[in-house]
Amino acid sequence: MVTGRDRWHRSPSPGRALATPGAGAATRRALRIAVDGPSGSGKSTFARALAEKLGASYLDTGAMYRAVALAAIREGIPLEAEAELAARARSAQMLVGERVMLDGLDVTDAIRDASVDAVVSEVSAHPAVRSELVRRQREWIDAHGDVVVEGRDIGTVVMADASLKIFLTADASERARRRLAQQAEAPRDGGNSLQSKDSLRQAMEQRDHMDSSRDASPLVPASDALMLDTTGRSIAALVATVQARLGLDVTGGEVWQPDTRITPIYRLCRGLVVGFVRAWFRIKVAGRENVPSGGGFVVAPVHRSFIDFAVAATAVPGRKLFYMVKQEIWDIAWLGRLVGALGGIPVNRNGVDRDAVRRAEQVLSAGGVLVIFPEGTRREGRKVTDLQEGAAYLALRANVPVVPVGIAGTDRAMPKGSHWIRPVSVRLRVGEPIRGPLAEPGRRVPRSAIRSLTSELEAGVQDAYDAASRDLGELA
Ligand code: C5P
Repeated sequence: MVTGRDRWHRSPSPGRALATPGAGAATRRALRIAVDGPSGSGKSTFARALAEKLGASYLDTGAMYRAVALAAIREGIPLEAEAELAARARSAQMLVGERVMLDGLDVTDAIRDASVDAVVSEVSAHPAVRSELVRRQREWIDAHGDVVVEGRDIGTVVMADASLKIFLTADASERARRRLAQQAEAPRDGGNSLQSKDSLRQAMEQRDHMDSSRDASPLVPASDALMLDTTGRSIAALVATVQARLGLDVTGGEVWQPDTRITPIYRLCRGLVVGFVRAWFRIKVAGRENVPSGGGFVVAPVHRSFIDFAVAATAVPGRKLFYMVKQEIWDIAWLGRLVGALGGIPVNRNGVDRDAVRRAEQVLSAGGVLVIFPEGTRREGRKVTDLQEGAAYLALRANVPVVPVGIAGTDRAMPKGSHWIRPVSVRLRVGEPIRGPLAEPGRRVPRSAIRSLTSELEAGVQDAYDAASRDLGELA
């Protein structure tokens, strides 16, 4: 049986680090966090630190597979003998905590030996072994409240209903370096052998290959996993990123609800930023009558300078604006909190971030205003082209209009090599809202509709940009 009553399963102060506004602790659903990834991706260190921070119990499922592999080595069970290995897994008394105990013996160090590294993937590939260990893991999870569970198949199999699934990666040389450091730290008791970096890297790659290519629950990210590359990032920064996610996603066990109210802190921060840019750039906004008087909509401004995010806010007074912001911002805790309070939605820019898309949709459905720069990144020149489809997709999904906004002048505020923001004149033009066809609830948005709304938007943003440039006297 796996029991988790060991001291370090719980942090000394089980006080929760998460905000739980409005929800009593009694009604909160348990927090279940799955951490998967290949060896050396920093899983264990990260998962432990996260559990500690959240006051959650922690389970290292790899230690269980290692314990079975160790028993096989010590007792001479052939690695291909699936039924025998599964029977051994069933008969084993296991305790996985601060120390790992197998049938009353402390095997904490022995299971980390290179000889176990060499065979564990073969042992763990057997479905019968897996089903016994998965059964025990689920039993452990059910017996604990908030948990962080690490392994290879946690988000896909063991806890497919996890509140948050995290998949860690790191580049190959960083992973080898970490494993080497771990080996150097591990106490040796005569039997343990120290590997060279090359052989270690080879063994690690082979294990990863076996883990990823096996038939039974291979190592693959869950489709809704938050992908985190740990290369060169500190554990504290990674934990802060995840905390930011949790603060947004799981408030009191409820699904995140966007707060579209203008709170005093929002009013203050926005007032400072918008007040500054309005005065500094002597901003004039034309076409404000085009801003919808209520309900959700997407604001789609042209993007020529990093200050556009603040300048765009002057077009839509009196409403809270939400922005998609790269998640690295949350690495710096105070900055993340500030950006979050100002309507920032963390987005992982490597691949499709379903969480971010879902939250953006929620903002719009809740009648909120979402700013998306449809060009994706900052561009140069007067032409608006190659728009990304995110703005149109979200507007169609939520059945809301997109409002094109032209911003002229900000490209001269900070030309290359300039170390300060020049007080140039800036003009804004709000274009007419554009609506796509009404989407059928629950149906996929047709690609053709996304494409046609994107090209309408392209024309709309171009018109608004041209109009703003004319207002500035830059265009005849
Ligand atoms: O995480 P760790 O490197 O200790 O895991 C050792 C091995 O156990 C992995 O290489 C993998 O073969 C197996 N494992 C697994 N499923 C898990 C955890 C570990 O197959 N959930």
